[in-house]
Amino acid sequence: MNQIEMNQLKQIDPASLAFDIDGVVADIMTLFIDIARIRFDIDHIGYNDVTRYNLEECLDIDPNIINMVIDDILTGNYAVSLKPVLGAGEVLTRINQQQSPVLFVTARPSQGSLLSWMEETLLLPAACAKIIATGSFEAKADELKQRDISVFVDDRLETCFDLAQAGITPILFKQPWNREKHPFMEVGSWQELESLIEFK
Ligand SMILES: [Mg+2]
Repeated sequence: MNQIEMNQLKQIDPASLAFDIDGVVADIMTLFIDIARIRFDIDHIGYNDVTRYNLEECLDIDPNIINMVIDDILTGNYAVSLKPVLGAGEVLTRINQQQSPVLFVTARPSQGSLLSWMEETLLLPAACAKIIATGSFEAKADELKQRDISVFVDDRLETCFDLAQAGITPILFKQPWNREKHPFMEVGSWQELESLIEFK
């Protein structure tokens, strides 16, 4: 992020801010790689090989296996742990002291066990998190507008374009799969995101 952009968005009110989960709060790609290795013996994929959001476009893995791993993730059918993105728990806990519950909007079809995962892993009590599962990327903007959210953190570049068009300011959470050129603000870590938030 350059300095002008930083200044423009220096003071985000936590009440106007919400978050995507996978790729922002939850380290979903490490989980994908772990499941592919353990269940399907695939050990040639590294985090930085995931250069596209659509995994079939960047990974040398049978698309059927990709779908099976994604299915395991969505149904919670795995024995390894889903890790948090570094720093997410600390910053969300700090936000929650000012704005509770913290709002999360995911394109997953259901929230499944994400609330208890947040409680156990991020130490964010279930009562302090509200998760909306839209089932589609396109539905995110409406959900956010209904709740007066004006700034949203997401790792999917296409979603950032959708949100911007709907009048919501996207902040792109930098990942190897969103390195195409774009006009949005981006953060490379939760620490960087924290520095943009107005804490009282
Ligand atoms: Mg995501």
